[in-house]
Amino acid sequence: MSLERTLVILKPSAVQRGLIGEITTRFERKGLHLIGMKMMQLTDEILNEHYAHLSERPFFQRVKNSMMASPVVVCCYEGVDAIQIVRSMTGATNGRVAIPGTIRGDYSVSSQENIIHTSDSPKAALEEIARFFKPEELFEYKSCAQSFLYYQEEYQLI
Ligand code: ADP
Repeated sequence: MSLERTLVILKPSAVQRGLIGEITTRFERKGLHLIGMKMMQLTDEILNEHYAHLSERPFFQRVKNSMMASPVVVCCYEGVDAIQIVRSMTGATNGRVAIPGTIRGDYSVSSQENIIHTSDSPKAALEEIARFFKPEELFEYKSCAQSFLYYQEEYQLI
C-alpha cells in the first residue's frame, strides 16, 4: 500500500470522439485525486522518448503519427496504489480484447486507437510525470472527501 502518482494521456482517439468527460468522470468517481491536467500537442521528440520501447516495432511511426493527430489531454492522478488502479481500469492494449468494463474494453475496437495511455509501473510513472508536467503544473491540495474515501490507517498515508 503506497501513495502514488500516475500519468494518464487522453489520446487523440479520446479527444476527437468526445470522450474526455466520460473518461475523466470514471477516474473521479473511483476516488482518484486529480493533481494536474492540461491540453498539449505532442511532438515527434517527446514521443521518441515516451515510446522508446516501441522504436524497433514496424508500427512505431504510425503510432507516433496517431498520437500527434490532434492535441491530447494529459492528467496526473494521485491515490493509494493509484498506478495499479488506473492500469486495471485501462484494460488490455488491444481494445478488441480488453474486457468490457475497462476503458479500452468499453470505448475501443483497435490495438492502436485505444483511447488512453496509462503508466504501467512506479518507475514509468515517475519518468512520465516528469516528461509531461513541470513541477509547478502539479497541485498539492486536500480533497474534502478524503476521510470518506479511505479509512484512518490508509488516510494517514496521505
Ligand atoms: P500500452 O499502451 O497498453 O501500455 P504499449 O506500451 O505496448 O501498450 O504500446 C503503446 C501503444 O502503441 C499502445 O497503446 C497502442 O496505441 C500502440 N500499439 C501497441 N501495440 C500495437 C500493435 N500491435 N498494433 C498497433 N498499435 C500498437
